Amino acid sequence: MFSRVKIKELLANYTIGQEVTVMGWVRTFRNNQFIALNDGSVLTNLQVVVDFENTDPELLKKITTGAAIKAVGEVIASQGKGQAIEVKARLVEVLGVCDPEVYPLQPKKHSLEFLREIAHLRFRTNTFSAVFRVRHHLAMAIHQFFHEKGFVYMHSPIVTGSDAEGAGEMFRVTTLPLDKLPKTESGDIDFKKDFFGKSTNLTVSGQLEAELAALALSEVYTFGPTFRAENSNTSRHLAEFWMIEPEVAFADLKDNMDLAEGLLKYCLNHVMEFCKEDLEFLETRLLEEEKQKPQNERSDMALRDKLRFCLSNPFQRLTYTEAIDILKNSTPNKKGKFQYPIEAWGADLQSEHERYLVEKHFGKPVILTDYPKQIKAFYMRLNEDNNTVRAMDILFPGIGEIVGGSQREERLDVLMARMEEMHIPLEEMQWFLDTRRFGTCPHAGFGLGFERLVLFVTGMTNIRDVIPFPRFPGSAEF
Ligand code: ATP
Ligand code: MN
Repeated sequence: MFSRVKIKELLANYTIGQEVTVMGWVRTFRNNQFIALNDGSVLTNLQVVVDFENTDPELLKKITTGAAIKAVGEVIASQGKGQAIEVKARLVEVLGVCDPEVYPLQPKKHSLEFLREIAHLRFRTNTFSAVFRVRHHLAMAIHQFFHEKGFVYMHSPIVTGSDAEGAGEMFRVTTLPLDKLPKTESGDIDFKKDFFGKSTNLTVSGQLEAELAALALSEVYTFGPTFRAENSNTSRHLAEFWMIEPEVAFADLKDNMDLAEGLLKYCLNHVMEFCKEDLEFLETRLLEEEKQKPQNERSDMALRDKLRFCLSNPFQRLTYTEAIDILKNSTPNKKGKFQYPIEAWGADLQSEHERYLVEKHFGKPVILTDYPKQIKAFYMRLNEDNNTVRAMDILFPGIGEIVGGSQREERLDVLMARMEEMHIPLEEMQWFLDTRRFGTCPHAGFGLGFERLVLFVTGMTNIRDVIPFPRFPGSAEF
């Protein structure tokens, strides 16, 4: 009963006169005759023509926007414009009705904000079906890239017993009764009574575990969900997001930058090849959206031109120190236009500074390296100057930071000194330090925020619109 041809396959490969069975959801039904049918396999709707004079009026009434139907009929050349073929139905069956009086999705433009509230139904719109198909292709491209290079895909744990990296911004995992927490003699919560016999959290990053694997398998990557309870209500932050974290033994910062730039370009290339129709649609959507904005806030390049531009130009590489000089002497800094003026070396870069460098000064993706150690994590390799670390951030137009990475500190004594300086409890991290005790070697890695990549590629402007069910402060719907 359910053997059918997908609309994508049919449009790509048909013979006039062949009989087909198609199934999907009605987008519109015009003149009691023309069904625009979509099954999600492709953006384009298939036109199914109903012989309304010989069809039961009761059945016709049930063919409404949102209804699921099956149609069997002959493939014919289309009379109308806009499509090469249509299906002349000899049989239409309604698999699931959809009452138009209460169905929230009408065949008209809905705002992205409204659609976010009905995220369970937004897959059925052109915009979101395109976004999620592109998201899929990006995920596949990432696995393909690493697989072709011989990396091992490593599943890092979601529940973690280590809180070295995320102190303060982690979600606790517990089965202890919240209304009567067991206490120790000194009055603290007794985590020995908890499910794992200790305090546990959701992971903020798979990096430390990936390092353990890299120091044996030499090239690994993780691709999984990560969780941060940071209270950032921005269009670039989620509380639950997916991260890609490669970790490579026998590699330095230059290798790391080359790997990250290679990965990003591979992904852009992949979607340009496999998501043509969806990207074209998303490009038009973005143009329409930007018409509402003042001229100076519009992108100066169409979506696909922007992707092509990033693909064909080497990313600009410079040090944090060089970037600070540029920012200090920049017009917005001198005119007091930055919300956080750049005064001295050591300042953490805000999104406004990152975007100035990328969008105004260089006009292309930028890789910043060698940040002050004070503003970076303990595991980054200390430079000879004792002041900066071998960190790198990749900054993208419209996005800001998309990748954060570093060469890792492989020297046991230097690492321990840094951890002490930063009050990281050494006792709890012995398993991590063992990598430096037993056959340590230079290694490097980075984290790529998957949703930030999807955001960039699709031209969507809010990160909540590129993950099916976004989690952010005050919201965990569905
Ligand atoms: P930001 O400064 O933008 O908050 P970060 O420095 O905290 O990011 P890292 O810890 O370096 O980020 O994480 C690596 C990558 O993960 C970032 O480059 C970014 O692409 C992504 N990322 C980080 N936090 C989030 C978040 N809350 N939501 C979505 N993606 C994120
Ligand atoms: Mn970072």
